[in-house]
Amino acid sequence: MLPDIKSLTREELERQFKTWNEPAYRVPQLLDWLYARRATGWDAMSNLPKSLREKLRENFSLHTLELARKQGAADTTQKFLWRLADGQFIETVLIPANPALYGEASDRHTLCLSTQVGCAYGCKFCASGLDGWKRNLEPHEIIEQVLAVERWKNAARGTGHEAQGQAAPSPKPTASRLVDNLVIMGMGEPLANYENLLKALKTLNAPWGGGIGARKITISTSGLAPQIRRLANEPMQFRLAISLHGATDAVRERIMPVNKKYPLTELVAACDDYQKLKGRMITLEFILIAGVNDALAQTRPLAVLANRLYAKVNLIPYNPVDGLPWQRPSEEVCEGFLAALEKLGVTATLRREKGGDIDAACGQLRLKTERELASTT
Ligand code: SAH
Ligand code: SF4
Repeated sequence: MLPDIKSLTREELERQFKTWNEPAYRVPQLLDWLYARRATGWDAMSNLPKSLREKLRENFSLHTLELARKQGAADTTQKFLWRLADGQFIETVLIPANPALYGEASDRHTLCLSTQVGCAYGCKFCASGLDGWKRNLEPHEIIEQVLAVERWKNAARGTGHEAQGQAAPSPKPTASRLVDNLVIMGMGEPLANYENLLKALKTLNAPWGGGIGARKITISTSGLAPQIRRLANEPMQFRLAISLHGATDAVRERIMPVNKKYPLTELVAACDDYQKLKGRMITLEFILIAGVNDALAQTRPLAVLANRLYAKVNLIPYNPVDGLPWQRPSEEVCEGFLAALEKLGVTATLRREKGGDIDAACGQLRLKTERELASTT
């Protein structure tokens, strides 16, 4: 199979064009087609000479994601299930910054990206890891999630009928930017696909690429301490979210096997390094699961960690997964947990939308679709 053009960095493209004896100004022209105009085929690239388009076609593929399924209405959270070239499925979630809170839809959007098909880390509560790990996403498959959602949105705007999914004839490059925040919280463990993720994020961050500021990109990890240290030494100022879900080893170990490999002391030491090099850029994610980690006894050790790392805490009531025994605690328990944390001087938020919302963690739509497919074949 040919490498995909969007998996190449700008420097790699420049080297390639040099060996082809193509003038340097052709590179920004190509980048404009790929990332500003989100072209889906070589033939559209009308200002590139035919001979160059042929060379590109012979040497590179230009894949786009195929929409397999979509959940959610316009102007609310929308979940996209994509089919990859090899038939695997991944999910991307589009979250409006302010879902019609004040009666008008917001133009700012956060996009939640997947980085792997499945996940090897097997957290006991998570749909993404239920069937294990299949493969890493290539850089272009990570980047395409942004481009495909923006293409889809433009088509919906252009025709007023999103189901048609037709591409607008010639989208205006900058006016049609939709996504201004990225959270790497979809399927997979991002730091276990480190090289491809970083390559993709460099393109998504670049002004000629996605144009999304590094401080508007949050990478969520289940706690891979060595990779957190590596990320701390990258020049880009990404935000880091740690999926903590337990403030003591005993509680964390029960639901997250990764805690055996990197227990809390090791994880927190790596976060310390990140905090020292990057400043106040860490969030601690804490899903509340009934009878597992929602006892008030967890709030004190959690506050100690949060205060030491200058981190804020996001409390997220668990979203039940078909076939798994875990439940979310009652509203009173969640509110009580939040109040106790705040009393200990921690900046914390509690996600309050009602149960079963599609806003919930990634992996569930894919799981459902794969199970449906398995039962029909
Ligand atoms: N692998 C990375 C990123 C993907 S998971 C990580 O674990 O951080 C993104 C977030 O969704 C994690 O905090 C994860 O613990 C959480 N999550 C997974 N399943 C969930 C569920 N059923 N309800 C609520 N949050 C869930
Ligand atoms: Fe993997 Fe994250 Fe799910 Fe754990 S919570 S199984 S690390 S995707």
